This record gives sequence, C-alpha cells and structure tokens, in this order.
Amino acid sequence: MIAEIIIDSKAKKLNRKFDYQIPKNLEDLVDVGSRVLVPFGNFKTLEQGYIIKIKPNSEYEVKEIAGLEENLSEDKINLARMMARKYFCNVSECIKLMITPGMRSKSKEARITDKTINFVYFNQPYEEIEKNKLKGEKQKKLIEFLKQNEGVTIPEIEKIAEISRATVNSLVKKGILKIVNQKIERNPLVHKKVHNNQKLPLNEEQKEAFQKVEQAIEQNRFEEFLLYGITGSGKTEVYLQLIEKTLQKNKSSIVLVPEISLTPQMLDRFIGRFGKEEIAVLHSKLSLGERHDEWERIKAGNAKIVIGARSAIFAPCEDLGLIIIDEEHDSSYKSEATPKYSAKEVANYLAKEKNIPLVLGSATPDLGTFYRASHQACTLLKLTKRANHSHLPKVEIVDLKYELAAGNKSMISHLLYQEMEKNRKEKKQTILFLNRRGYSTFIMCRDCGHTLKCPNCNISLTYHISQNLLKCHYCGHTEKPVTICPVCKSSKIRYFGTGTQKLEQEIHKLFPEASTIRMDIDTITKKNSHEEILRKFKEENIDILIGTQMVVKGHHFPKVTLVGVIAADGSLNQDDYRANERTFQILTQVAGRAGRENLPGKVIIQTYNPTSFPIQYAKTQDYDKFYQTEIELRKQLKYPPFYDIILIGFSGEMEKEIQNISHYMFEILKQNLQKYDINVFQPMPAPIDKIQNKIRWRIIAKGKVTPDVTIILNKCLQNVYAKNVKHTQISIDINPNNMM
Ligand code: ADP
Ligand code: ZN
Ligand code: ZN
Repeated sequence: MIAEIIIDSKAKKLNRKFDYQIPKNLEDLVDVGSRVLVPFGNFKTLEQGYIIKIKPNSEYEVKEIAGLEENLSEDKINLARMMARKYFCNVSECIKLMITPGMRSKSKEARITDKTINFVYFNQPYEEIEKNKLKGEKQKKLIEFLKQNEGVTIPEIEKIAEISRATVNSLVKKGILKIVNQKIERNPLVHKKVHNNQKLPLNEEQKEAFQKVEQAIEQNRFEEFLLYGITGSGKTEVYLQLIEKTLQKNKSSIVLVPEISLTPQMLDRFIGRFGKEEIAVLHSKLSLGERHDEWERIKAGNAKIVIGARSAIFAPCEDLGLIIIDEEHDSSYKSEATPKYSAKEVANYLAKEKNIPLVLGSATPDLGTFYRASHQACTLLKLTKRANHSHLPKVEIVDLKYELAAGNKSMISHLLYQEMEKNRKEKKQTILFLNRRGYSTFIMCRDCGHTLKCPNCNISLTYHISQNLLKCHYCGHTEKPVTICPVCKSSKIRYFGTGTQKLEQEIHKLFPEASTIRMDIDTITKKNSHEEILRKFKEENIDILIGTQMVVKGHHFPKVTLVGVIAADGSLNQDDYRANERTFQILTQVAGRAGRENLPGKVIIQTYNPTSFPIQYAKTQDYDKFYQTEIELRKQLKYPPFYDIILIGFSGEMEKEIQNISHYMFEILKQNLQKYDINVFQPMPAPIDKIQNKIRWRIIAKGKVTPDVTIILNKCLQNVYAKNVKHTQISIDINPNNMM
C-alpha cells in the first residue's frame, strides 16, 4: 500500500503531497490522519509527515515510511485541509494545532511523555514479613508506617515518616518492599477549591433559550444560535444546563472563553457544578506537560467538558455534542499568527460536520454575528433582564474639555472624585479602567519635536516608573530614560500621556487613605498571579482596583458599586473600521462590572467626545440602537459585514525585494480579481512600517471574499512564491484584528 503524505515544513513550496510505501509491520496501524516519520531530501534526517490518502500504487519510485508517531482522525485531516485553503497556509501548520501537545519534537529526549512517579508497596503480605529480619528501629518504623500508608512516594516517606531513602532501598534489596512506577496526571485543577454550585431554576427567557438549543441537541442537528443577553442576564447558567444535557447523552462539550486564566470565577462555577474530574482546561498559561495530560484525558473520554481559549476548539473530543463560545465578540477568537484562523468559523464547520448546535453568547455581539442573526443565518435568543434582579448601573458622562477649562488638570474629574470619596467612606469598592499600561505613553523633545522610538520598531517608547526604564510594547526592547534630546541636545524632554502606573500614583495622592491594587501585564507575572490580584481585591476589601482591559472580563464582584473609565477616547481614535464597535463593547462590558448584586451601581465615563454615538449608546446601554447606526455606516463605507478587507502583508529585512514582490503581487491580483468586483489598492508601507527590525509593506483589497476568490488568492500566492522569494514573508489575512 502507498500513502500520500504531506511533509511538515514551513516552506510554502512544500505544501505538496509525496508518495511513500507503507511497510508490512505498519499496515494495520496506520491510516489517513497518521503522523509518521519519513526519510526526506538528503536522507540524513527523518521528517514528520501526515498521511492524507491511502492508495494501492504509485507512479513514482517510493521510499518507505520509517515510523508511526500518532493517529489523528480523518476528520481532523479534512479540517486541516479546509483551513489551509481558507487561511492561506500549509496543511501541516494547521495539523499542528490538532496533535497532542508536546509530541511534536523530532528528538525523543525533548518530548513530553507521560509523567510517572515511584510508589512504594509491600512485595509480600505484611503478615508474612519476618519481623526479626528487620535491622534497627528505622526499618521497623518504615514497615509500620507502610502498613497504614501503602503506596506512598519516597519523598512522602522522607517528609512524613522522617525515614531516609536509604532505608527504603535496603528493604527493596531484601525483597520485602517493591517500587512501582505509575503514571500520574498533571492536572491544572488539583489545587482549586471546589465550591458547590447549585443548579438554578431558569427564568422564562432562560428557559426559552435553553429549550431551543436542547431541541437541536436532542435531534442531533446543526443549528447556530446567538445568545444575546445583557451582562448578568444568566447566560452562564444556560450554558451550564446545556452542558448537563449533553453529558446526559454521554457526549462532550467544548466551551471557549476569551482567556480562561483571566476568568477564574467562570471556571469555579463549572467546577462547582460538574467537579474537577469531568473538566479539562486548555490555555496558554499551562505547562506543556499539563497540556499534554489534559489532551490525553480528553482523548480517553475521561474529561467530557473542555474549557479553554481559542485553540481548545481543536481538542480531541471523541463524541462532541455541543460547542459554546462565550463573549463571542472578543477579538482573541481570531488568531493573529499563522494559521490565521477564526475559532468561530472553525466551530461552525465542526458543528455542521457533527450535526450539533453551536451557541455564541454575548452582551455586545460582534456586528457581523448580529447581522447574520437578523438575516436568519443564525437563531437569535434574547435575555433582556438581569437574572438576579439587580439593576443595570446608572451611567454618567463627563466632558473632559470642561474639566480642563475649569482648571482641573488631574486625570480624575470632579464628579468621579466625589463618587470615589463617597464610595470609600461607605466601604464599597471602585474599579478604574484605563487602557494603557506604563507611566507615560510617549516622550518628546519640546524644542525639536523629536519623539523617542524603539530602535527595532517604528513605535513610541513607554516610560515605566517602577523599573525606571523606557520599554517597547511590541518587541520588549528596553533602555534607560533620557534627559537630553538625542537629536538637538536640548534638555526639554517631556513625558506625556498617561498609563496605569501614573494613574495609580495620582490616586495615592488624591486618596492617601485608600488602598489600591493594580492589574495589567506588568503586575501579572507569575503563574496565577491575576487570580491572586482578583482574590485580594475581593477578600481583602481593597478600595480601588486599577487596570487595563483585563479588569473588563466577566468578573463578578458583589461590592463593586462604582466603575470609572478614565479616558474613553483611546479606542475611538484608532485607525480601524471597528473603532466604534470596540468602544461600545468595552464601555458596556466595563459598566457591567458595577452593581451586580443588591447594591446599585454607577459608572462614570470620562471623554473628550461626549456626543459620539458609541459613547451615547453605551450610556443608555442600548445595543440595538448602536447596531442600527453602525451597520448603516458600514454599509455606506463598504466595510464588513458587507465587504471583506483583504490584507496582504509583506515583511522582511530586504526592502528592495519587498517592493518588487508587492508590486508583482499587485499586478497579478488586479488581473485575476477584476471580474469579482474587488478593489485592489497600491502597495505601500504599513502604518507601523518596522517591527523587530523587519520592514513591513502591504496591499489592501476590498470586496466580497467568496470561495472562488479564495481559490484565486491561493493561486496568486503560489505564483508569487514561485518567483524565487528569498527574504520576504507574505501573509494574507481577511478582516484582520489589527490593521496596523
Ligand atoms: P451572564 O453570564 O449573562 O453575565 P450570569 O450567568 O453570570 O450572567 O448570572 C448573573 C447572576 O445571576 C449570577 O450571580 C447567577 O448566579 C444569577 N442567576 C443566573 N440565573 C439565575 C436564575 N435563573 N435564578 C436566579 N439567579 C440566577
Ligand atoms: Zn530635540
Ligand atoms: Zn520594539
């Protein structure tokens, strides 16, 4: 038998199939989807490859497969091939997302294997041990200890019984004890406390939403749902009961959340309802070993609920019955690294393949998703009331222009100051949100206007006061702060812009008695430390939590009654067609943190653009009006969901080659896409034209990306690669997250 194999390689030209002979000893073991080792090229090394087809013979002279590594299912191979086409990358790059973590390495030593530990057991029944053969007190003590605790580890013996390893070994030599090497699981949840989470009787709206999805589960039928429910309306309770239903059918569920390590409370609710054993978590903060073991538990069918970030959509569930994507508007569901896939699109594909329901949940749905729901492409389920009868917070807007005119140069407006002071006196908690970290966000010479930029990236440096360093937030470059302008030697260097560090300092000045805690990438370093920050804030009754985006995610703090947005303008002024949408989403999500239980909540939004519609509709928390205004704009401006934006990026160290290739690409795109009503714009440098010393150019095209267009884009890409591209990386991204 002959196997058609795709070689695992980054080289674009290698997205080709090669024939290999299947050796007799592997015939019964390999199949489509097997990951194998094959001799390739100069024969010196074995390369990894994936079998995509098996056939009786080949027209070529073929080599033999050298070994089998792992079997994937044929479904996964088909998914990878679909993704490679849709996201303009190699099949092998997609398959990598689907194989067991830690099994990729070619060298056996570097591989993650099952973790095993030595346990000590009796080698003969306790009664038969000739006690008089035991030498000394130590050995007798060990035997007595084991009588109570058979199956402990040597470190435990050392620690608890205070008996040395040497004593254990001498009894092993005598044949009285034995050491058994057993597999243990590295379970990331072992240290989590379980708080029982009782099932709640659903309210009318929840019941209706639940029943619609339940029907699809019962009938083994694909249907996509948008569960659109305001913050606190009980979406999570609906998810929990749907998962329970799926479990009753002995099927698995996948739940995607934006970044699980940031939402420990969500995880607690799942564990509290179903227990640790049933749940596997997958996210970037786990060690490779932990991910490996979670993957194995899922594969074996031991954990039927998978909770994780984007890539958990590829979890090896045997019998998948339900997919839930919470906070479906979150940008993290689209990968910015190759393969640039959308987990929502992959989920849609999987749900259709497996005839199961897909539930997308949000309080501020992605504009594209809501558009699809209003055109019956998916079923809209609405939750309009807070489930625990708490009221939506009152939102007030402060015009920072007036504050400045009235002589208030601080970052905290008069109104916010008063409310914070009142809150502190009443022993209630406040959250302040500012979407920039560091101290000062740009540094400029007042004489010549020179701004300090990263030498590797064309990006302003940010001052970090705690380490007294200038940092690049793109590549991590750091340097000492300057006092003299490197261009004109003036000493009038000024630090502008406000980050969370400066805000924290100012809060200490304004409220010397208040306790504060800060949460941003700079304070979150060690594993679990975000969890620690949130726990402290909650349990130690800290007055004020200051933070970036990450304070917005679905946390639930009963005593938070005030949320202050320091500057709502940052995201409005972004050069991105989603600027309005992101502003509205973030303001609504922040506001949702206030007054979640019986205490009424208040939100104060500070801005220089108080009349802009995303801010106005965030004030009234009116998604429907926001949607109607924004969708009209998108239509007029030919933006998604009406048209797609195709971004073709070129990056590398050789500017000349980048220019040549991008112009060549431009010509062939224009020729080939003409008849599809796609507008291709001239190549030009990207807004950030250098990152990590790589020069960046791009071509933008606008139009509807149909399957035909996808095929043409793939062909153009192959055509350009055939042109001897040596130093340039090319990527194609449809509606990218980041337009910079
Ligand atoms: P969402 O996920 O929509 O933000 P949650 O599921 O977190 O909402 O629910 C908000 C609060 O309401 C939680 O404290 C939850 O326990 C409570 N809750 C949810 N559903 C019900 C219900 N049917 N009856 C009573 N309380 C509920
Ligand atoms: Zn200067
Ligand atoms: Zn940099």
